[in-house]
Amino acid sequence: MDATGQPALTRRPDPFIVVGKVNGRDEAARAASPAEALSRMLGWLAADADASAVWYLREDWPGPVTVIGRQAPGTARESRRCAHLFPLEPGTVLRGAMTAGCGARLRLPEIEWLPLGAGMPCERCLVGVCRNPRPRLEGGRR
Ligand SMILES: [Zn+2]
Repeated sequence: MDATGQPALTRRPDPFIVVGKVNGRDEAARAASPAEALSRMLGWLAADADASAVWYLREDWPGPVTVIGRQAPGTARESRRCAHLFPLEPGTVLRGAMTAGCGARLRLPEIEWLPLGAGMPCERCLVGVCRNPRPRLEGGRR
């Protein structure tokens, strides 16, 4: 059983890892989504003002993962709240902010994560994705 009262799914394929130092101890946790990783990090910071934490897509994940997010309500004008694409490479450590495909930099606590297809997409992010097809997704080297 985990904290949510649900049976622990030991084989749940959580793509994200959160690691940090809380009250002098090393901590590590898995997360199913960026939002879960963030809430874990905020929990650590609430427990220890000097806590440090980073998160990343597991280095053994088979390929890059694109997550979608936009400025949370109240942190930007509505017209600027388009849905940005954030390509994540396995093993690349992420800290307090993330850079979208179009170059926009969003601070983590101010990102509202969206399911695929939700929100008005950022056109510049879409262009970036089209310009940079990812041959690694096809598997193997060229
Ligand atoms: Zn964008």
